[in-house]
Amino acid sequence: MFMTKSLDVLDTLFDRFLNHARIFKDRDVLRHDYIPSYLPHRENEIRRVGEVVAPALKRYRCSNLFIYGKPGTGKTAVTKYVLSKVEEKAKELDVPLVVSYVNCRLVGTEYRVFFYLCNSVGVKVPFTGLALGEVFDRFKSGADLKETLLIVVLDEIDALVKTKGDTLLYELTRINESLSRSKLSIIGISNDLRFKEWLDPRVLSSLSEEELVFRPYNAAELKDILAERAKIAFYDGVLSDGTLNLCAALAAAEHGDARRALDLLRVAGELAEREGAKQIVEDHVRLAEKRIEHNRIFEAVKNLPLHSKLVLCSVYLLAKANINDAITGDIYAVYCELCAETGIAPLTQRRVSTLISELDAVGLLNSRVVSLGRYGRTKKIRLGIGRSIIREVFQNDERLGSLIGYAPKCLSKAKDRRN
Ligand code: ADP
Ligand code: MG
Repeated sequence: MFMTKSLDVLDTLFDRFLNHARIFKDRDVLRHDYIPSYLPHRENEIRRVGEVVAPALKRYRCSNLFIYGKPGTGKTAVTKYVLSKVEEKAKELDVPLVVSYVNCRLVGTEYRVFFYLCNSVGVKVPFTGLALGEVFDRFKSGADLKETLLIVVLDEIDALVKTKGDTLLYELTRINESLSRSKLSIIGISNDLRFKEWLDPRVLSSLSEEELVFRPYNAAELKDILAERAKIAFYDGVLSDGTLNLCAALAAAEHGDARRALDLLRVAGELAEREGAKQIVEDHVRLAEKRIEHNRIFEAVKNLPLHSKLVLCSVYLLAKANINDAITGDIYAVYCELCAETGIAPLTQRRVSTLISELDAVGLLNSRVVSLGRYGRTKKIRLGIGRSIIREVFQNDERLGSLIGYAPKCLSKAKDRRN
């Protein structure tokens, strides 16, 4: 009896697994770091990057190149693709060439950027501890000893410069002056179209000896990109034309982001698979969209710095008490109580006001300026996201979890003011 029962269970499990396996043929090709061997609608960009790096094959220094465009427009994929080809060719021709690729946002600090650059020329430095100038000098001598052409790719350079300034770029753009046997070229990539404003004019002019803008994809282009990828990712017949159109249209409406389109397709596929469906249909895509949006907000809230979290929690508590048009003063009062409650030293109201503006800028709060006639103007602030998602984040937060149920004492004052 027992035996049959467990066999039944396994039978169903295997059956379901086999059914599931009908959706994805190769899930990995939908990962963010997968570089396809064919990049539709980027032929021109591939050619332009190719033209810039080609001189390396004749041992000339290539011009520095500055690439920018919105996220998901193929900047990283195109750059990596072209560089892998030029590396291959250089090897074939026996021309010395070192390509070092660093994603500045992921790496986080100038020190770590140089740490990776040092690694790429075979210089070992400790992961932390040296002065920045020292690491840079070691990189310089290491690079020179190699007697090579070096192409340094600084991807998502905007993230680094905005937090740490442009010293690193400045030093790198001048490095050739002190290299005698090697030459270095820089490819800088930015997701921020206005990044140039952050750079010292001297740095900008040498970084952008050549410039290349990646424009967003339209829906038809996204569809081609998805269709190419879907051929390797899914089994035949899993994907309808309508599903593909919907993914492309949703991503095009955002800002022509191919990453977004691929994410939609992957998550829709996973939802279909979990359900045991044989096809990915449009409903899966719509569900996937909700799921992705939810995760995006969840991550954004979860990764906020401590004081921004406290500010957001204050607005949440006000909203819970039906105060949906809080002013900075209300928020600050609740915020101070929360700080007292958790033993955290509060920031000044002015700083908190800046944090509110930052939260507004990323859409977690919504503020609007209201005129009070001759009494001037005031800012009314409310949550920009659902309350449940804030509860969800805080409930998983060890330190701040209890605050979500806190009843602020200052609320009656805020309510009085409204009567
Ligand atoms: P960016 O660096 O501009 O933010 P990526 O190069 O990382 O964008 O591209 C985002 C995702 O979309 C990656 O998974 C990439 O492989 C894919 N992708 C972008 N453009 C194309 C294209 N023309 N063809 C195929 N895949 C593409
Ligand atoms: Mg990128």
